[in-house]
Amino acid sequence: MNVISDHDVIVVGCGIAGLSAANRAVELGYDVGVLEKAPQEHRGGHTRFSESFRVPSTDTDIGQYGYEFAIDDYSPDDFYDDIIKQTNGRADPDIARTLVDNAGPTVEWLTDRGVSWDMEPLNVGYTVSRTFFEGEELVSTLVEAAEADGATFYYRTEARELALDERGEVAGVRARTDDGFVEFAAHAVVVGAGGYESSEEKRTRYYGSDYDAMKVRGSRYNTGEAIDMLIDIGADAVGQWGGAHMALIDSASPDVEGGANRVDGYQYGVILNNEGERFFDEGEDARAHTYAKLGRRIFEQPGHTAYIVVDEPLKRYVRATGPSDPVVGETVDAVLEELGCEKPVAGAKTVREFNAACTPGEFDPDALDGNCTEGLDVEKTNWALPIDEPPFHGYSVTGGITFGFGGVASDTDARALDTVGRPISGLYVAGNTVGGLFFDNYPGGTGLSNGAVYGKIAAESAAAFLEGE
Ligand SMILES: Cc1cc2nc3c(=O)[nH]c(=O)nc-3n(C[C@H](O)[C@H](O)[C@H](O)COP(=O)(O)OP(=O)(O)OC[C@H]3O[C@@H](n4cnc5c(N)ncnc54)[C@H](O)[C@@H]3O)c2cc1C
Repeated sequence: MNVISDHDVIVVGCGIAGLSAANRAVELGYDVGVLEKAPQEHRGGHTRFSESFRVPSTDTDIGQYGYEFAIDDYSPDDFYDDIIKQTNGRADPDIARTLVDNAGPTVEWLTDRGVSWDMEPLNVGYTVSRTFFEGEELVSTLVEAAEADGATFYYRTEARELALDERGEVAGVRARTDDGFVEFAAHAVVVGAGGYESSEEKRTRYYGSDYDAMKVRGSRYNTGEAIDMLIDIGADAVGQWGGAHMALIDSASPDVEGGANRVDGYQYGVILNNEGERFFDEGEDARAHTYAKLGRRIFEQPGHTAYIVVDEPLKRYVRATGPSDPVVGETVDAVLEELGCEKPVAGAKTVREFNAACTPGEFDPDALDGNCTEGLDVEKTNWALPIDEPPFHGYSVTGGITFGFGGVASDTDARALDTVGRPISGLYVAGNTVGGLFFDNYPGGTGLSNGAVYGKIAAESAAAFLEGE
């Protein structure tokens, strides 16, 4: 087997976790090789399709670069509480604490590495502070910054096996390349290779027999072989393997790599299934706290499809990025029929009953305004305004998978842990390759913060390990 042994540190994956690790390791003076499974033009995993980081605005000084958050009082404790609340108390508290305490300084560091931000929120209804950006640009900025400091990127290079030395310690990575298997020798390995959600086989295994048909929002290359590689040498498989971030997306989205395909603002209207029934409290919380679990609820409905309906005054709060155009009509049943709903008349009746149950006070799209329904089987607890002023606007939506919640175990130093909780010498993990942080739901914007924080920590831990060797 061809052996490449030029590098101190091998990083697997070039999404936010891998790129943060690679940038920090080169900054600390190490020779870094980055193995990326995708061809260069598709590099960047799900990060390439993303658009915002959740950041405690009270705990970062990106103001020094001229940036200002829309919400300036979001603290690390608020961020921590959101993670614990959205995961029903199951998030590993130490992993979550380290994440929220490092998210602000890490975004500051990324700014220092050349990342630029757009601080304008994409839509109303955010209750947390975020930075925004263009995914491909974020990836190319961080690749170029790492290359400028000497990192080498190997594309179409898929990590399949960890090489171990005679003491059983990690000694490199064996990868499939255009020239067959190549061994990349190194003293420390950081795996930031994303999750397993783009594999039809694994979606069926973890979520159910229909889930091969679920649309994949992100990269087609996140099929989980690097996670298998870690488990093969003894890393613990932890977290909610049956759970995933599955978002509400436009029904006409491509089967894979559709990106955002957003229909935001659904929280102000109603969502009906093919039976013409509501099945979810659309106003349960801000969009950033419901969209990641709503996709699964929709996929479980008949035909894997649902229909958002708003009336003319609410239309301005909906942001749909396509690919389909909304359907507009003078009656709710006409709109539902054109959208393809199997029971449009039942749907129109549901909307009339919903309207009668509304008890509207002052509407505030930017806060949980307490406008609720009274007396329905499925109540709406915020933003419940009657949908009664034509024309009506309708959107057909389905569920798309973003990423799975299972992964391997790590500690707050990003060290990979074995099944008895021991760190595996020289092996570090970050981002969606890791399990134990997200369960049931997900606070929007946390995936990138998580990848960046732990990618950077992984490089620092690898550096400390290499120093001590
Ligand atoms: C459409 C979409 C929108 C999103 N929007 C947001 C958002 O706005 N904010 C947010 O916080 N999160 C968002 N997310 C989630 C976010 O993208 C992920 O949480 C984050 O990108 C994970 O980073 P990562 O580095 O762990 O994985 P990824 O970015 O997926 O990177 C993994 C990399 O590893 C490579 N790879 C995989 N297997 C191997 C292998 N065996 N060998 C070598 N390389 C391998 C992949 O090709 C890829 O480059 C979004 C996701 C999607 C799909």
